[in-house]
Amino acid sequence: MRKPIIAGNWKMFKKLSEAVQFVDEVKGQVPAASKVDAVICAPFLFLPTLVEATKGTDLKIGAQNMHFELEGAFTGEVSPSQLADVDVQYVVLGHSERREYFNETDEAVNKKAHAAFENGLTPIICCGETLEEREAGQTVSKVSTQVTEALKGLSKEQVIQSVIAYEPIWAIGTGKTATAEEANETCGEIRSAISEAFGADVADQVRIQYGGSVKPGNIAELLSMEHIDGALVGGASLEPASYLQLLEAG
Ligand code: PGA
Repeated sequence: MRKPIIAGNWKMFKKLSEAVQFVDEVKGQVPAASKVDAVICAPFLFLPTLVEATKGTDLKIGAQNMHFELEGAFTGEVSPSQLADVDVQYVVLGHSERREYFNETDEAVNKKAHAAFENGLTPIICCGETLEEREAGQTVSKVSTQVTEALKGLSKEQVIQSVIAYEPIWAIGTGKTATAEEANETCGEIRSAISEAFGADVADQVRIQYGGSVKPGNIAELLSMEHIDGALVGGASLEPASYLQLLEAG
């Protein structure tokens, strides 16, 4: 059985003091890690403080991006080894906002996925189609390509440990969620693509999250679907009560 993983993606929200207040409020109430993996992906600036504040609890901390090189002349970037050095455990890779506004390519996401594993980080690899692509019947080819390109060259064991986040771009921050059936169907197609590339034994174990306007009111139905093993949540992860409700559904 695949354990659900609920990850908050805070994007570029909150001040440090608000972030600390959030984790202080939430960390003691997080369901046991044996039941659900609870993650908050915060701005770089907050990471060491949040890791320290959540030490010994079941709330885990992730970054929202990283470079693929370990060090070098890359002004403004943060490396996988720097994240690992401060005990960050997860990293979101290839979010559609990074692909759209920062020209992140499938090739870069693949390099980052390799670098994540080399540094002991668990990647949350995002994929998703635009509304135009969905209407043109290109959803499956778009997301399958994004996922198989991102995972290229990883070992079976690494693929099993990866987390995939299917986030239809038209559902992110819009209040429009894919129906549970639509989300499940695409997550199932992603699983098939992973099965073709790495084998059914791998595909059966890899966790696939849905993301895009997930809220306490719709998460239970999404998680009840066969191929949906968790959620990547933006807006509804910003308030402690709402985040805890999401975890309870997990
Ligand atoms: P949303 O964002 O939950 O606010 O739609 C999801 C995401 O971008 O990860």
